[in-house]
Amino acid sequence: MNSSSTIKSSVLIVGAGPVGLTLALDLASRGIDVTIAECRPAHDPPSARCNQVSARSMEIFRRLGISAELRAIGLPADFPNDVVSCTTVTGIELSRVPIPARGERSTATGGPDTWWPTPEHTHRINQTFFDPVLFARAAAEPRVRILNQAMVEDFAQSDDGVAAAVRDLDTGEEISIECAYLVGCDGARSMVRKSIGARFEGTPELQRVQSTHIRAPSLLSLIPGRPAWMYFALNPRRCGVIMAIDGRETWTIHNYLYRGESDFDSVDRDWAIRMIIGAGPDFQYQVIAREDWFARRLVADRFRDRRAFICGDAAHLWVPSGGYGMNAGIADAANLSWMIAATLNGWAPPAILDAYESERRPVIDRVSRLIAEVAEKVMLHRREVTADIERPDAAGEAARLSIGRAAYELDIKQQCCGGLNFGYSYAGSPIIAYDGSSPPPYSMRDFTPSTVPGCRTPHLWLADGRSLYDALGPEFTLIRTDPGVPVSRLVGAASERGVPLTVLDLDAPDARSLYAENLVLVRPDQHVAWRGDQEPPSPVKLIDTVRGS
Ligand SMILES: Cc1cc2nc3c(=O)[nH]c(=O)nc-3n(C[C@H](O)[C@H](O)[C@H](O)COP(=O)(O)OP(=O)(O)OC[C@H]3O[C@@H](n4cnc5c(N)ncnc54)[C@H](O)[C@@H]3O)c2cc1C
Repeated sequence: MNSSSTIKSSVLIVGAGPVGLTLALDLASRGIDVTIAECRPAHDPPSARCNQVSARSMEIFRRLGISAELRAIGLPADFPNDVVSCTTVTGIELSRVPIPARGERSTATGGPDTWWPTPEHTHRINQTFFDPVLFARAAAEPRVRILNQAMVEDFAQSDDGVAAAVRDLDTGEEISIECAYLVGCDGARSMVRKSIGARFEGTPELQRVQSTHIRAPSLLSLIPGRPAWMYFALNPRRCGVIMAIDGRETWTIHNYLYRGESDFDSVDRDWAIRMIIGAGPDFQYQVIAREDWFARRLVADRFRDRRAFICGDAAHLWVPSGGYGMNAGIADAANLSWMIAATLNGWAPPAILDAYESERRPVIDRVSRLIAEVAEKVMLHRREVTADIERPDAAGEAARLSIGRAAYELDIKQQCCGGLNFGYSYAGSPIIAYDGSSPPPYSMRDFTPSTVPGCRTPHLWLADGRSLYDALGPEFTLIRTDPGVPVSRLVGAASERGVPLTVLDLDAPDARSLYAENLVLVRPDQHVAWRGDQEPPSPVKLIDTVRGS
């Protein structure tokens, strides 16, 4: 490779989208130096697509010390996060899923998701607010170097590392970046995915959606009753979704094209927007951006080739029903980060990295199917909307009741996805010490917290008022519910192998209902690695298992 300058970095991340930035921050928090190459200019306005940061992602951001800053921005603090189904946005309300506004998110009770056992509830915030915070945090982190206008064109792997050819789009100069590991967080068209020979499998097109980001200062005043964050409009003319972006004047509208409408422009955009809103010719709005998209279900057949990995949209794409694409990518990043850091910090062999694909790919595949299943039901529901829904008589009332009931079930499934947040567990991993128990089943909405190895460590509030997650150590933590149980051999084994381990005596009301075993070994990504009532017969063997040796 002929290059005029060379940069050395432990990890090269391709792409500074939300997944790449999260991975960089997580790696940096574990002492790893990172370079991110991003082909867009710095401060390029992000797309307005993404509107939901899941509770689990917020837990990850809490660990990284960003959640409070993110929670402070987005919609106005008192703007309801409710999800409404209606005939049109300005028409008749059919059902409403009550979701607390940002300002009362941590204190509200009685809602369908307020009971979730988490220190960080879902945050409904648009990407235009969210991405700049991640970018600024990464840019301020001394261990992270961000190269903007830097296109990764190619890379080659050897036994010792990866050399990437990067084009400086300002000067045309070629830069060589030499790193130990390369992670493609480079989105749907991922160059890294193609380079490692991975192929997307699944359904390339479930639907086309005409999507428009608009400014409409008068819309809020036209909406009857209490406003909502999201509206699903159901009427025989045009079904669609509208979401509040800033809670004042900006909105995103999705017009779901029907079979036969095979081109994004096959339906008049302005007409569709007016039909979804229920607005006449006097209604004024301005188009900020067109962001048309395909609904798909695609999962890469592999997530890794030796020293190169893929995360986020580079590895999987699906319908935003449930608002979970980026969140799944953030979970990929949290999973991969500690394993890469463990190898670079010298306390795990490279074999630990085999766990990334074996843990994440089955979860991703299952999640992609759950989401596609609900998306198909939503599509069917839209297709079946009868003209009766707008009749001002008893037949209309009956239609609205029945469609509203079905809509509520679909809306709650998509917007209160407890299972997607907390339900999945890592089965078949080479670095988890299973004990023969099956993890509890989960669906898109339902989950059961559990200490079965592979599950997310169940959250509870400690007697001193702290979140359990704030009391965990930075890497492995041994949670002990009975302080009389000896742990010195396990602690000694971790020390012998150089594995950072914190012991935490659990002082929390009702801890035993969640933590039946005396000891639970928690990984750096807050998943359970092992549990038992006493130290295992061979603590060194256990430590070797969980560090991939
Ligand atoms: C309408 C819609 C709504 C959505 N809503 C949600 C939601 O509410 N919640 C949610 O979790 N998900 C949502 N998603 C999905 C979400 O938008 C994506 O999953 C998420 O943006 C993926 O992030 P990423 O970092 O993996 O990729 P991207 O955001 O695509 O970032 C990839 C980056 O890599 C850069 N890049 C690409 N190639 C190169 C290269 N060769 N060299 C250098 N840089 C490169 C790109 O410029 C880009 O900045 C939604 C999607 C759609 C379509």
